[in-house]
Amino acid sequence: MYDLHQDKLLIASHNEGKISEFRELLGLLKIDISSSKELKLPEPVEDGQTFEENALIKAKSASNLSNLISLSDDSGIEIDALDKQPGIYSARWAGPNRDFDFAMREVTRLLDEKKIPIAERTARFVCALCLFYPNGEYFFFVGKVEGRVVWPPRGKYGFGYDAIFEPLNMNKTFGEITSGEKHSWTPKKIGLSHRAKAFAKFVSYLSQEKK
Ligand code: IMP
Repeated sequence: MYDLHQDKLLIASHNEGKISEFRELLGLLKIDISSSKELKLPEPVEDGQTFEENALIKAKSASNLSNLISLSDDSGIEIDALDKQPGIYSARWAGPNRDFDFAMREVTRLLDEKKIPIAERTARFVCALCLFYPNGEYFFFVGKVEGRVVWPPRGKYGFGYDAIFEPLNMNKTFGEITSGEKHSWTPKKIGLSHRAKAFAKFVSYLSQEKK
């Protein structure tokens, strides 16, 4: 049987930001990790229709190529009034130059065009983690954070759509809170983000596995 505390865990990502975030989170659990980037594994085509399908494509490809247990993530922002767009296309809306100022303006342009009142600009960030074992078994851990889209962008922290996302019951955007408040995970305190919430579910699965 596999044991994540004995075996190496492969982070199925080529994104340096994501890899270091996982490294920080998993460091606390003393799990030995490596990444698809380090092993120079080719990136699969992400042609799934949901966050889970894309996370599975990434984790399965990395595990099949390395024969290691692998963990992937797929995430994005769903805006209700835009039929949950950009969703799985969140990164792609920023174009090849990853221009998120453009993507945030585009979101607001479409909401304005549809004359959606500010109070109805509800949205959520979603993160799906997929843990894939070399024997073909896999598990999903999904985290969501509800909120709304605001304009103009606010805050100097974060990335992507952070500056226009205000979580429910907060009058700050994700761009105005530190990465500690947003993504952190410790056994006593779970950060606000979708990724922190998904990660908390993953950790709870690991602790059941050990029993
Ligand atoms: P992925 O790398 O295919 O999962 O793309 C996720 C995309 O969703 C990122 O490029 C961001 O645009 C957006 N996104 C996901 N999580 C966050 C977040 O925590 N803050 C801001 N944008 C995010």
